[in-house]
Amino acid sequence: MRVLAVGAHPDDIEILCAGTLLRYAQDGHDVSMAVATNGEQGHAIIEPPELAEIRKVEAQASADLCGAELFWLGFPDEFIYHDHDTRMRFIELMRQARPDVVITHNPQDYHMDHRIVSELVFVSSFLATVPHVITASPSTTVNPPLYYMDSLAGANFVPTEYVDISGVIDRKEAMLNCHQSQTKWLKDHDNIDVLEFMRSQNRFRGLSCSVPYAEGFARLDAWGRNPVTRVLP
Ligand SMILES: [Zn+2]
Repeated sequence: MRVLAVGAHPDDIEILCAGTLLRYAQDGHDVSMAVATNGEQGHAIIEPPELAEIRKVEAQASADLCGAELFWLGFPDEFIYHDHDTRMRFIELMRQARPDVVITHNPQDYHMDHRIVSELVFVSSFLATVPHVITASPSTTVNPPLYYMDSLAGANFVPTEYVDISGVIDRKEAMLNCHQSQTKWLKDHDNIDVLEFMRSQNRFRGLSCSVPYAEGFARLDAWGRNPVTRVLP
């Protein structure tokens, strides 16, 4: 299978579903990671243009640890909108990645960029199959199942499916740790340990399915999108 995860910011995928991507890669599937915005607002000192460059390098390093292809869309952090051109860019993303399964933010997450990206992924993964919607790449044939990943800290999110990531939790942490502009800054200045944050959430989700560490997901239940067998690892 071809697997595509789409996050709003560099590090969202790492916090919320990188363990599952590592499991997919381990099982021999092709994994792609798309980052919608450039993360340029994620620091109080480093200027946005410089931070965007840093974060792109960090995202690439993380993707490399998973053997994933990185799609860097470069929309402005905190100012991505569901307009015509953005929708068309997401349709082209779907046609480039040609996913058999898609993972993205759940529609109720805490950050507006997450919500916008969730909506864009929902609509573009369908529209990629429509031939007369013209982008650079040809239309796709698969209307892929869509999985919503956990919300940050699990707030207002009830998983319906779980993935055991106990065997890859250290590699997941290594991916997240590539985002030094965030992990270091948040620890030094806000006393937030993002690595511990991630582990705690996955430990808690693990309690629900009796494994040490798990990631939780909820599948979009919609006509044409429902698989008849389990698609997650
Ligand atoms: Zn985010």
